[in-house]
Amino acid sequence: MYDVKGNLREVLSRLPAGVRLVAISKYHPAEYIQAAYDEGQRIFGESHEQELRVKVGALPDDVEWHFIGHLQTNKVKLIAPYIDMIEAVDSMKLLKEINKYALRNNRVIKVLLELHIAEESTKYGLTLDACRELLSCGEWRELKNISICGLMMMASFIDDDEQISREFQTAEDFFNEVKAAYFPDDDNFCERSWGMSDDYHIAVRHGSTMVRIGTAIFGPRVY
Ligand SMILES: *Cc1c(COP(=O)(O)O)cnc(C)c1O
Repeated sequence: MYDVKGNLREVLSRLPAGVRLVAISKYHPAEYIQAAYDEGQRIFGESHEQELRVKVGALPDDVEWHFIGHLQTNKVKLIAPYIDMIEAVDSMKLLKEINKYALRNNRVIKVLLELHIAEESTKYGLTLDACRELLSCGEWRELKNISICGLMMMASFIDDDEQISREFQTAEDFFNEVKAAYFPDDDNFCERSWGMSDDYHIAVRHGSTMVRIGTAIFGPRVY
């Protein structure tokens, strides 16, 4: 097996205090997750509902599962009974769907709003203006079974540290803006989920509170 435990210790030793690790285990076998679990890791991130379901059944109950990928509305009801946090929410429609099934399961589901800041064109994530619009419309305040805990984003996949650094800074500035405007008295709104295997060393200099790291712990994914 890949040296999951050694890699995990190495990554953890590089994280400043106050930054939590979400170990991204997608496409890796449950044995790898168990190895990280045995080393003390409790938060894991997956991006496909079926794969997640299998792993939830195979791992201990006290794992905190984060859904990190694009979530289709028709999959919400399947993960609502157990998912701890849904990291990549980018529409009011999805927020409402999560709220609906959280209510049915008599629980509160934590969510992050996904920003689209990177240069790459993708259909996922909110532009800063779209995020401002979603928050200013205020409808989210009625959704009592979700807790909006912060923001999530991915930097561009490029080999340019300065560009990546600028993108994380944009995200950090935007977090401060919406925190002040919409969540000044809400301590739950505190998470900045940015930083992956190749760029977390930059992300932690720009206010990240949560890094999502896969390859650096579990090795290359086999698709
Ligand atoms: C796969 C994935 C990661 C982890 O990427 P690594 O480069 O393997 O660390 C982080 N965030 C999201 C949203 C992902 O899909």
